Amino acid sequence: MIGEQAYWNPVLETLSQEKMRDLQLRKFKRLFQWAYDKSKFHRSLYKNAGIKPDDIRYFEDIKHVPKVEKAMMRNIQRKDPFPYGDALCVPLDEVVVYRQTSGTTGQPVYQADTWQDWEWWSECWAFILWAQGYRSSDRIFIPFGYNVFVAFWAGHYAGEKIGAEVVPGGVLDTQARILKIQELKATAMMATPTYVLGMAATARDKMNIDPSKMSINKITCAGEPGASIPGTKKRMEEAWGAKVYDHAGATEIGAWSFECEAQPGGLHVNEGFFLVEIEDIDTGDIIEDPGKKGKMIITALDRQAQPCIRFDSKDVIEWDPEPCPCGRTFRLIKGGVTGRADDITKVKGVLISPSAIEEVVRGVEGLSDEYEVIVDKIGDIDRITLKVELELGRENQRVAIENQLKDQLRLKTNLGYVLEFCDYGTLPRYDVKAKRFKDLRKAH
Ligand SMILES: [Zn+2]
Repeated sequence: MIGEQAYWNPVLETLSQEKMRDLQLRKFKRLFQWAYDKSKFHRSLYKNAGIKPDDIRYFEDIKHVPKVEKAMMRNIQRKDPFPYGDALCVPLDEVVVYRQTSGTTGQPVYQADTWQDWEWWSECWAFILWAQGYRSSDRIFIPFGYNVFVAFWAGHYAGEKIGAEVVPGGVLDTQARILKIQELKATAMMATPTYVLGMAATARDKMNIDPSKMSINKITCAGEPGASIPGTKKRMEEAWGAKVYDHAGATEIGAWSFECEAQPGGLHVNEGFFLVEIEDIDTGDIIEDPGKKGKMIITALDRQAQPCIRFDSKDVIEWDPEPCPCGRTFRLIKGGVTGRADDITKVKGVLISPSAIEEVVRGVEGLSDEYEVIVDKIGDIDRITLKVELELGRENQRVAIENQLKDQLRLKTNLGYVLEFCDYGTLPRYDVKAKRFKDLRKAH
């Protein structure tokens, strides 16, 4: 048995940055050659850019390799070999898993994996679970119906791989899931932040159960940035009496980052398996130093069937200047994934990220977990309306809560808002991922 070692992979997780860059370069060259030889899509992309495998000699050469955008992947699909198209690097016979992206806009991207890729997926998740304190004594409940999307299949298999016991909680409704957690004394679960808070509200409001008195002691979040937003994380931790950890991953990339038990306010990149580059959104230069935000360009260094090479993820991130107290040398993404290049929009000429508003709302005591942001135009002027709910029994504190909310919004987002207080329970509730930010200006 593995026992109490601190890291899932002690060699990779403590490798010096210099050796890590060497390893990443070697893996990148191998992957580039593989895609060049096996995939028509990649070969023509690289030939058109005038770059071939021999041209990648130093780490600095990597940034000259053309990026892949999601739209490019959409365009090649539903063609031969059906349905994946010619980015596929293996015969169809070797594909054992079909998944698709879960984005709300546009045609989903199909993702093929071989058995080796699928083993790789669960290995990525084993790093995550081990770093978050999961061990063989854990009983993990997954309150989620697995289907064509990747969540939480790999988390499930990684739970088994590290020797924990895994309970698949699909199909059941929320109340039945809460009862099952109670019945089995589950110690951990995986869910989106929206659902973690939604389950707690159901337990309290509809079942008269206090989730903080239940047996869950750690929760791994995915799918939304909430577990890296301090106000939301605190609400989840208090509601469940549990440690809440973030992780970020994507169908076409893999599970590339995780928060560790030290909760450093950021995500470790699994640099042994992924190469993350941060690109300046204005200049296109690669940002090497901490403290400047840019968009993530990512390579999954070991994935074979449908490779992910310099994929333009549109996630906005920055390097953290501080090392993590946990001792891992995997670099940290400060504050997690704070937004997407697509979502960060200008209101009244000010850049605004929806997660900044969430941080304020979730940080004000007396407001419920729900909120909605609507941006529209009155004449030529942008108007931003924020709808919130008071918790039950807080009506007499409304003025104080409203003043605190206004102050914090101005301080943290530098914008004025039209505030609307709604009755508790009247704003929309979401099961998995929430859509709380509505920009109606684009509709006109
Ligand atoms: Zn750490």
